[in-house]
Amino acid sequence: MEGMRTCPTCGAHTLHRVVGEVTVPFRKTSIEVPNVTHDVCDSCGEEPMSTGEFDALQKRAVALAREAKGLLTPDEIRELRRVRGLSQRQLERVLRVGEKTVVRWEKGTVFQNAGSDTLMRLIRQDNDVLQALLTTRAAVADSRSRSSGAQRGQRNEHVR
Ligand SMILES: [Zn+2]
Repeated sequence: MEGMRTCPTCGAHTLHRVVGEVTVPFRKTSIEVPNVTHDVCDSCGEEPMSTGEFDALQKRAVALAREAKGLLTPDEIRELRRVRGLSQRQLERVLRVGEKTVVRWEKGTVFQNAGSDTLMRLIRQDNDVLQALLTTRAAVADSRSRSSGAQRGQRNEHVR
C-alpha cells in the first residue's frame, strides 16, 4: 500500500505515519502528549521511534508537566542567570544542586523541584537574596569541597 513501510518488530508491510496523542510514562504517572507525529504498525500495534523522536517527545512531556506545576521555564531560568550574572555552575552552587543540573533544566530534559523553583524566583526578584546565599558558609564550603555531581543530598556541611 502507498506510504506503508516494513515494521521492525513484526516484519509486516503495514508501518505508516500518524498524528495523534501518545502516552508517556512519567515518574509515578503518565502524560498524554497531543499531536505527536509518529510511526504505527497496523499489524502488531507497535509504535517504533527513533532516538530523536523519543527525545523530542520526552521534552514535550516534561514541558507539559512543568507547565501544570507552574514552574519556571528553561528560558526564564536562562534569563534570570543573565540578569544576575551567574554561570550555570554558579547557580548550581547557590542552589546546592548537582553538577550539570541547571544544564539539564535549561535543555528541558528535566525540571526543578518546588524548592529550587522558589529560590530562583527569590533570586530573580531581589539581588540581596542572591548576595546572602553567596556569602553563607555552607555555599562557600560546598563550592570548595564538591568534586563530583554524584554527591547529592546528605553531606557533611561542617556547619553547626
Ligand atoms: Zn508490526
